[in-house]
Formats: sequence, C-alpha cells, structure tokens
Amino acid sequence: MSKIIITPLGTISPYTKGNMNCPGFLVEYNNKKILLDCGNGITRLLNFPNDLKDLSIIITHYHKDHFGDLGALQYASFVYHNLQLLDNKVKIYLPKNDISFNKESIISNNESYSDYYYINNSYSFLIDDLRISFEDNKSHTIESYMVKLQNKDFKIVYTSDIGTTNLNKLVDFCKNADLIICESSFLKAHNSNSKTHMTAYDASILASKSNVQKLLLTHFWPEEDKRLYLEEAKQNFKNVEVAKEGKKLILEKN
Ligand SMILES: [Zn+2]
Ligand SMILES: [Zn+2]
Repeated sequence: MSKIIITPLGTISPYTKGNMNCPGFLVEYNNKKILLDCGNGITRLLNFPNDLKDLSIIITHYHKDHFGDLGALQYASFVYHNLQLLDNKVKIYLPKNDISFNKESIISNNESYSDYYYINNSYSFLIDDLRISFEDNKSHTIESYMVKLQNKDFKIVYTSDIGTTNLNKLVDFCKNADLIICESSFLKAHNSNSKTHMTAYDASILASKSNVQKLLLTHFWPEEDKRLYLEEAKQNFKNVEVAKEGKKLILEKN
C-alpha cells in the first residue's frame, strides 16, 4: 500500500501576506519528507526538529520566492545537530547554477548540517521506491526544474514556475499523473502577456491534455481572490482545487 501526504506550506508569490507564504509543499512518504521549494514563511508551518529528520529539500530555481526560508532551515539543522537532536544531515537538491546567480551565496557548510546535490534533466534519486526526477522545460525566465515523484502506484508532478511555450514537452512530463501541482500566477482577466508563467486557464488545459486525475493550483497573486482561479480552471477541468496553507491532500492506494 502506498500513502503520500502533501501539505501546501506556501501558495503565493512574490511576497507573504496574512497567513499565506511563498512557494513550498511538504510531501510525506513512509515517514520521510520531501520539501518542494522553500519560500519565505514556510518554516512557520513546519514542526521542529521533527521535520528536519529524513528531510530532502528541492530548490527548483533561483528566484527568491522559492528559497527565501532556506537559510533559516540550514541554520536550524546546525543548531539542532549541536543540541544532539538531529543525527542525519538534511539533503538539499538544487540547480548547479543559473548563469546570473551565484549559488555560493545560499550554500553554507559552516552553519548548516546538510549535504548538497545538483539536479539536472538526467539526475534522479530514490526515497524508498519513490523516484524523484527533474526536467527544465525552458519556458521560465531562468533555468527552472519541474519535479516528478513516481512509484508503481503514483505519479505526482510539481511544475514550479513555468510558461506554455513548450506545452508538448510539458504534457509529456505530466501524462496520466494522479496529481499535478501547477502554477497559475495569473487570471485571464489580468491580460498578462507573460510567456514565462501560466494562467489558471492554461493550467486547466495542461491538466486535460495530460489526462491527469487531479489539478492543484498554486503560485497565486497575493492580492487576488483565490476563488477566481478555481472558477477559471473549472471552465475546462472539473477535478481542481486551490492549494491552501496547511490543508493536507492524502493520496492512498492499496
Ligand atoms: Zn520563478
Ligand atoms: Zn515563483
């Protein structure tokens, strides 16, 4: 039997507001944890030091809304290790470098109890039988990785930030997934010309073209009513939800 629990920790961008945080999703599988992005404010919803144990953190790209709380987690790992409350290093997976970004500024070996691994299109790793793999769709403003989590029972995709210029590749990556956690930075009403982000409607097109079971929308504009994203996506795809901080989603198969 497989059971995967997904807890949205942050659903808005580019800044925090009220009890909403910048991007982050906690995935729990066999008591092991995977944190998909580490945006500002997400540490408010973690349990310390327990959530640091058997923790893998994935940073999909070097936009500040996606790693704003990484420094706090690194330092917390250092402190809890010194208190002898953390035995295993936190594993941090991140792009090797974006051409315009100096990754050394967020990698600390001094005051962090963690190991670092570089992700790319051919890199993958296992959490028990759950394989985690990556692909840069090359449709965001910088190198940015989609994440796929897959075992014999489940396929889950987190798009991170992405546009629709390479829609066919995106559909391939999401094909027949049980769940896609998809960005929807905009509404059609915003009349954005962005090629590097999606609308809720774009996300619904992706969900239907990819034949996925469920669509979870995220990466909302902080000032916008989340219900509008839901309404827009529902025009084209029925099984859709908006991600909400702390509202767990449980996938289970016998
Ligand atoms: Zn971004
Ligand atoms: Zn973002």
